[in-house]
Amino acid sequence: MYEKTAIIGYGKSGAGAERILKLRGCGQPDLYDDANPCCKPIAEYKDIYELTVVSPGVPFSKLPEKPSVYTSEIELAYGWMPADSKVIGITGTNGKSTVTHLTAQILNNLGHNAISCGNIGYTFADAVAEIVEPAIFVVELSSFQTELLQDFSMQATAVTNITPDHLDRYATVEDYVNAKLALLSFIDSEGVLIADPDVRITNRVLKAVYKVRYMDREYRAWPKLAGNIMNFGNFYADIRKFELFGAHNLLNLAFALSLADAVTPMEGDVTQYICGLTGLPHRTEVVPTDNGIRWINDSKATNVDSTLTALKSCVDPTIVFLGGRDKKGDFTQLTDELERCASVVCLFGEAAPIISSQLTNKLNRPVKIFRTLRNAVEEAVALAKPGCTVILSPGCASYDEFLNYEDRGHKFAEYIKDAYNV
Ligand code: ADP
Repeated sequence: MYEKTAIIGYGKSGAGAERILKLRGCGQPDLYDDANPCCKPIAEYKDIYELTVVSPGVPFSKLPEKPSVYTSEIELAYGWMPADSKVIGITGTNGKSTVTHLTAQILNNLGHNAISCGNIGYTFADAVAEIVEPAIFVVELSSFQTELLQDFSMQATAVTNITPDHLDRYATVEDYVNAKLALLSFIDSEGVLIADPDVRITNRVLKAVYKVRYMDREYRAWPKLAGNIMNFGNFYADIRKFELFGAHNLLNLAFALSLADAVTPMEGDVTQYICGLTGLPHRTEVVPTDNGIRWINDSKATNVDSTLTALKSCVDPTIVFLGGRDKKGDFTQLTDELERCASVVCLFGEAAPIISSQLTNKLNRPVKIFRTLRNAVEEAVALAKPGCTVILSPGCASYDEFLNYEDRGHKFAEYIKDAYNV
């Protein structure tokens, strides 16, 4: 028990940490956050506390003094889990939330008490504060959260993929990769790692004591796809019962099934456990309209790699929306897919001129620039014909025009409704 504690960064994760500290009888922590008028400014923080909880959104470089004793919301929650609980940790650049959500659903379908939490929106601390029975906590972990871990252990971990992201926070790609892979040090010696066979991962786990399984994206080795049957050796599933859009989601399913198997070994036909699985909002989510045009909200695609992933599952003619706040992404990576599937590329928001300059002379498809997303939607409504797809998969952050990617996705659906007058 601590008497004098502080929390730096009072967002969701800070509030979750506060909840745990109070449950532990530590009293009211001092709160520091520049965006919240109820908190003290971060510049006033001094290293005078027995324990400081640092939120993942606040890099140490922003603190006037580095706390000598610090922890994170994730670690606090970990120390407070009901006995006999298990932790599955999920990291990677893309697909984390979907894998987290699918894994928890599969485990629940198998009859376990699984809770998806962490970066997915419902904090690990809130989940732990609300649970008294042993549970399987399926925790999505961002690289920012991983950086703060010291005392933590997982029974199963997935690294979905690693591509450059958050280069606004990390000086180099290597720093980012190191932050992500720091998680591997926290896998239980009896645990399992399910990973993309990226050489940066394979090199790092050469001497690992835990079990490592590499996910074959081509489904030739493990798992194997023969017709509609995805086979993992001991168990298999008929993927016709899986309804999410896009090849990337099939891969997410493969990760989720192998994670579930890692904590509760499965055998034979497990198709029944993948029936009715749902995706998450704003990830290649179909916006219902009844005019024969398929509108897809992929607002969560905040980096170029996610956009590339979504485009791979699109066919010509597709109207593609890119833009928002620039994260130094390389949009030239999209030219082949845009050339293949895009009838028009609509650029919007702050990043529009930057993306436009990257695509100039590289793309033979019409590129239009709009000040706002609403303007782009109005144009697409005028252009789109039945049979056409319109996808918002922006490849940028949303903060220039919206509160966050969820707000951008909701507004996208609203603009569509307004434009069709429904
Ligand atoms: P994260 O939580 O890592 O941001 P999400 O599951 O929320 O990932 O998906 C965000 C976006 O990332 C999706 O809209 C999709 O475009 C892309 N994506 C999802 N799964 C994968 C995957 N396995 N590989 C590459 N990109 C993916």
